[in-house]
Amino acid sequence: MAKAQAPKSLGALRKLPSVDEVMRHAVAVAAAERFGRSATVAAVREAIAEARASGEADDADAFAAAATARLEKQAEPNLKPVFNLTGTVLHTNLGRALIAEAAVEAATVAMRNAVALEFDLGGGKRGERDELVRDLLCELTGAEDATIVNNNAAAVLLTLNTFAKGKESIVSRGELIEIGGAFRMPDIMSRAGTKLVEIGTTNRTHMKDYVGAIGDSTGLILKVHTSNYRIEGFTKEVPARDLAKLAHEHKVPLVNDLGSGTLVDLTRYGLKHEPTVAEAVAEGADLVTFSGDKLLGGPQTGFIVGRKDLIGKLNKNPMKRALRVDKIRLAMIEATLRLYRDPDRLTQTLPTYRLLARPVKDMQAVAARIVPALKEKLGRNYKVESKPCSSQVGSGAMPVETLPSLAVSIAPVVKGGGRLNALSNALRKLPVPVVGRIEKDALLFDLRCLEDVDGFLANLAKLEAP
Ligand SMILES: *Cc1c(COP(=O)(O)O)cnc(C)c1O
Repeated sequence: MAKAQAPKSLGALRKLPSVDEVMRHAVAVAAAERFGRSATVAAVREAIAEARASGEADDADAFAAAATARLEKQAEPNLKPVFNLTGTVLHTNLGRALIAEAAVEAATVAMRNAVALEFDLGGGKRGERDELVRDLLCELTGAEDATIVNNNAAAVLLTLNTFAKGKESIVSRGELIEIGGAFRMPDIMSRAGTKLVEIGTTNRTHMKDYVGAIGDSTGLILKVHTSNYRIEGFTKEVPARDLAKLAHEHKVPLVNDLGSGTLVDLTRYGLKHEPTVAEAVAEGADLVTFSGDKLLGGPQTGFIVGRKDLIGKLNKNPMKRALRVDKIRLAMIEATLRLYRDPDRLTQTLPTYRLLARPVKDMQAVAARIVPALKEKLGRNYKVESKPCSSQVGSGAMPVETLPSLAVSIAPVVKGGGRLNALSNALRKLPVPVVGRIEKDALLFDLRCLEDVDGFLANLAKLEAP
């Protein structure tokens, strides 16, 4: 080895055990059993190197323990489950929809086995993977045909590229959305190779604006559901029915990007109405695009449903191959869609609906258990109380409407001084990180998505409150 940097104390250096010596220690033997010999040797080596650099002496005992701690830390998954107490049910940064049990089981089967993914079991010939869920999608949306891609952003990209590459796409200025991250409608358009033709104004777009823009170079008319914001007041948009008529007179498709989209009328679960995919199809859209992991409550997916001839063209675009989904997701999609055949039971079978429709009295029962535990854990430095709050659907669905909910509010008795931030940091560092939201001078835990109360309390016991 090259000459190491000068140790702070030569005496200490002489006392350092060798890697072999530490590896013979019972604790290191146990670590090698758990994590493998080579990873354990590496961890021991690192622990000794650290001591050498800092000039601190330690014995084999301590190095074996330090190496084990290192290995345990490395073994923790980077993708950790968290308690989502943000009050946003479909939180994009926390993974959106929870998957239904039926879909988890279907995915497990698909993962462990060879499956008839593109294999026609009747004829024994090559089949098509989207075939597996096409009938279900058509049944639930009233569309003629359907195709499936990686997510809704991909669905929009594929649609624009297939029907408007080298041509123009007409969109109202009131619908030029940014979904967050890099999904901005104008950017997607340019990547799809289509020219954006913006018409109307932010708050008002008229039929005459569409009529003035449509012509020989038009590839399609795009209608975008302004899923994550609302323009209110002096507004005007052209109904999809009228746009469909105009599009068909000019022999171009009307595409409706619904964003979240839902397969059932949400008012039956006490929620606000959100346009359903079936409604968009019935209004005359030739193609409708929507997400799998928003209100639909499934895995990340992009659905495109609509006219058979157009879906056929989408499937022939080579981009489709790059955007297709794998067997695991198809298994989840099929199982999730099947649940919609029994809409009366969706609040039991689909976690997204269970959480959205959760009654406040459920949250009160949760509060009754966790408020005393939090009071005891946090001591006199904090005021802990339950109070009404508002949850959101999230992922851009129903941006304005909120759901009445219940929160636990944690406020430091002495305001300022950074205690609130320190507490929310400590909560994020727990074995199962707890993510709430800070509102005014308090940390709020919205209890809507807290179902595993025992798990929450066991986790809380490990908190060292600042
Ligand atoms: C969310 C959304 C998208 C993007 O969908 P992803 O599934 O997140 O890719 C596109 N358009 C609209 C209107 C949306 O709401």
